[in-house]
Amino acid sequence: MDSALFERLQCRRRGARFRNWAGTFQCQPAWHLAPTSEQVVIAIVCAARRGGLTVKAVGSGHSPSDIACTDSVMLNMDKMCRVLAHDAARCTATVEAGIRLRDLHTALAQRGLALSAVGSISDQSIGGAIATATHGTGLAYGDLSSAITALVLVDGTGARRECSAEADRDLFDAARCSLGALGIITQVTIQCEPAFMLRAVQTPTTLDAVLDDLDGVVQSAEHVRLWWFPHTDHAVVWRANRTRADTPRQSPESLVRDRLYGFHVYQLQLYKARFAPDDIPALAHEHFARRFDRRLEWVDDGFRVFNFDCLFPQYVNEWAVPLDRAAAALRQLRAWVDAQQQDPRGARVHFPVEVRFVRESTVWLSPAYRRAVCYIGVIMYRPYRTPVPYKRYWRAFEDIMRAHHGRPHWAKAHTMLYPELLAAYPRFADFVRLREACDPDGVFVNDYIRRHLIPPDPAQPRL
Ligand SMILES: Cc1cc2nc3c(=O)[nH]c(=O)nc-3n(C[C@H](O)[C@H](O)[C@H](O)COP(=O)(O)OP(=O)(O)OC[C@H]3O[C@@H](n4cnc5c(N)ncnc54)[C@H](O)[C@@H]3O)c2cc1C
Repeated sequence: MDSALFERLQCRRRGARFRNWAGTFQCQPAWHLAPTSEQVVIAIVCAARRGGLTVKAVGSGHSPSDIACTDSVMLNMDKMCRVLAHDAARCTATVEAGIRLRDLHTALAQRGLALSAVGSISDQSIGGAIATATHGTGLAYGDLSSAITALVLVDGTGARRECSAEADRDLFDAARCSLGALGIITQVTIQCEPAFMLRAVQTPTTLDAVLDDLDGVVQSAEHVRLWWFPHTDHAVVWRANRTRADTPRQSPESLVRDRLYGFHVYQLQLYKARFAPDDIPALAHEHFARRFDRRLEWVDDGFRVFNFDCLFPQYVNEWAVPLDRAAAALRQLRAWVDAQQQDPRGARVHFPVEVRFVRESTVWLSPAYRRAVCYIGVIMYRPYRTPVPYKRYWRAFEDIMRAHHGRPHWAKAHTMLYPELLAAYPRFADFVRLREACDPDGVFVNDYIRRHLIPPDPAQPRL
């Protein structure tokens, strides 16, 4: 191992702990290295391979699972954040993979471009976001992985590999959502569109009203998402459409409603409910009444309208079911929550369930592979150092998602392991074969990859 190289690139104290954003997973990498270029990434991978070490890239550490964890070499990609090129006519931009989405929005806006759809936050790196098929919402819009038109990665042998729809198609379809298992992605080319503003309208409604006409609701705007408040029938539908660029900006934020109540008071109430869980259903009604039981309309740059404040660290789980299963899956989830409420010792659910829609994809490991999907996300409050019982909810949720052919969001801690994944993804076996070819010595293997991508019993014949 080339320890002089590693010493030079060391960006945090040796042995310092890494914690993901929510603080739900942590690890102690032996080395925290910050490469500055592709050549340096190649040198690190080659040195690690020679020295029998493993390497894990980390973006912003926002994944609510151990997907980015390692006790060996952690590559902090923050210094690889340059815009390398853009093509105004094609609306594409080529950037280094460590760039954070928020900086990407700014850089694209300066060039008159924007990402077509993003999720709730823009803190992630583009490399990390596509590694897990991060998505926003909109039935005509794919996840971020599907917006990639070309990429470059350094595989486990230290080789530089370029791929696109025209060059090395299999690698391209695998690497656009690869969980960090095929190599370190150094640059990506992204299909953007001309910069745009969105007009969002948020309206209170009921879950029954939404589910009775889910197809109509999903198609009622370019981007639609909804929240259902468990223990109640309250729901909120958020719709957003592109609007003329000269529309004046308006903000939906209210200091008292959103900051004072929505953050501080609400957090205190949730904390108290930790010791009095029977207060949670009333709290759900109050939260809806105080913050969401009104029509809101606002206009802003697209990415600002897509993003919102995710409040405080949480436990999260999210799966994608085929669109035609969405209403049945949500009805089943509501029936489970209602049954729990009748049981004095039953589970109580803190946060709204978030529902989003994503176009089908050709990316092998995208949960939207070959099917339009409805993502259903469940969230539980996570007070500092005070555990909340969420596992029973997770088990019931995952059982319902499985019954509706769901596939889990890769970034989140989920229980779908290798054998089930093999059945859930038509190209899973191809991905596994490609991983073995790209990384013959397991340089990019960590516990997450071992659990989900490596056959449980190596003695078993491979497909
Ligand atoms: C508050 C919050 C809100 C969120 N909202 C959404 C949402 O709206 N929609 C959604 O789909 N998801 C959402 N997520 C999940 C988030 O988008 C994913 O976890 C994403 O992967 C995080 O990106 P990151 O840069 O933090 O990656 P990390 O968590 O640091 O890493 C994720 C994976 O990417 C790999 N990786 C990172 N960089 C590279 C690289 N250059 N080359 C190869 N592999 C790499 C890592 O090794 C790891 O396997 C949210 C998460 C949080 C905490």
